[in-house]
Amino acid sequence: MNHYDYIIVGSGIAGLYIALLAIKQGSVLILTKGNIDDCNTKYAQGGIAVAMSKDDSPELHFKDTMAAGDGLCDAEAVRILTEEGAECIADLIRFGVPFDTLNGEITLTREAAHSTPRIIHAGGDATGEHIELSLSQQVRSSSIKILEDCLASEILVEGNKVKGVKSLDCRTGLVEEYSCQFLILATGGVGRLFKYSTNSDVVTGDGVALAFKAGAGISDMEFFQFHPTVLRLPGVAPFLISEAVRGEGGILRNVEGYRFMPNYVAEAELAARDIVARSTVYEMRKTGSDRVFLDVTHLPPRLITTRFPHIYRFCLAHGLDITRGLIPVAPAAHYLMGGVKVNTWGETNISGLFAAGETACTGVHGANRLASNSLLESVVFGKRVAERTTAPCHKESGVESQESRSQDSRLKTQD
Ligand SMILES: Cc1cc2nc3c(=O)[nH]c(=O)nc-3n(C[C@H](O)[C@H](O)[C@H](O)COP(=O)(O)OP(=O)(O)OC[C@H]3O[C@@H](n4cnc5c(N)ncnc54)[C@H](O)[C@@H]3O)c2cc1C
Repeated sequence: MNHYDYIIVGSGIAGLYIALLAIKQGSVLILTKGNIDDCNTKYAQGGIAVAMSKDDSPELHFKDTMAAGDGLCDAEAVRILTEEGAECIADLIRFGVPFDTLNGEITLTREAAHSTPRIIHAGGDATGEHIELSLSQQVRSSSIKILEDCLASEILVEGNKVKGVKSLDCRTGLVEEYSCQFLILATGGVGRLFKYSTNSDVVTGDGVALAFKAGAGISDMEFFQFHPTVLRLPGVAPFLISEAVRGEGGILRNVEGYRFMPNYVAEAELAARDIVARSTVYEMRKTGSDRVFLDVTHLPPRLITTRFPHIYRFCLAHGLDITRGLIPVAPAAHYLMGGVKVNTWGETNISGLFAAGETACTGVHGANRLASNSLLESVVFGKRVAERTTAPCHKESGVESQESRSQDSRLKTQD
């Protein structure tokens, strides 16, 4: 059996970022079931929420996150998320992610349910693509071993301690076993289980299923987020129209042309995602339609083409000039708030088994994720996984982590 200190399953932001930190501490293998860049990360448009401006603070970001989560967020995890973000952004910059700047300062935009502009982005609305490209380039030029087209099919556990993983090589059909000290699940969410979904084909809940089968705790699976504005054009696969479009002034109209959001909530189009998605569904039912419209025709065309070049070009390629015409949209499956139950160090209840990114349930999102908090969660708690696995006592036996787990009331096997 090939042995590695770390085996990481998944090559989105969580997997690649942890790999780049972990390689300083030991040998690293990444298993990924498609190409390295088959993942949700590369589709992320809006950006990363982080309190960086002088008018903002981690406290304000904390309050917005708690409010969006509908009273069900884990306050300690949200504190960590909002206070430790800036350091991880510095890492991403060091790894080459070209965040957009103006006059030497990182540009910030606003998204729904954020009380102030705090979303950093790259390439306008191509944030995820830049992150994935920069991190995968770093990984490829390091000593990290990557096996593409390799699907993790079973977690090997003995006496509540992780031993390794079984992996199916999708090209040859061969099953291999790899042993490790730390196994990190970074397999993303479950979005592709739904008919209408913004997610990549590879995002099918594997990490949650593997962890469950191995005996790990799973939590909050009932909390799944539907994005309100996903392109609904006949014959065109669901394509996300970022929250940031409403942040910049986009308006939702029903099929009769009526602006409906102010009837539902004072924040109108800038209300939290779940409220906008539910209001949209009510409006679709009321008007007997399978869609509503997002209207940006009142905004300066230059703002649209420079701030949302990716969305603009995609729609244009399908015959829709969004600077002139309304965008047909409807809610679609988007993001899993629940997942593999972890503590604030990414640890599951199985010694040596960690989870990070969308597959993990850290508790930061509660019942509803605040826009652009998931990329942040992936790096903040990803960094903590790397930090946790440096502790010498943990490396030797896993005893320390068992003690910490027993003290952590949030780690219950049956959640
Ligand atoms: C269209 C879209 C736009 C978004 N926009 C934003 C945004 O602006 N800001 C934000 O914060 N969040 C956004 N999100 C959410 C965010 O992109 C994801 O939550 C985040 O990228 C998840 O990263 P990850 O590393 O956990 O998983 P992913 O990036 O999804 O990567 C999962 C990886 O696991 C691999 N994998 C899965 N199962 C297996 C298996 N059995 N064996 C081997 N490998 C496996 C996959 O191949 C893939 O490499 C968006 C999501 C979508 C879909």
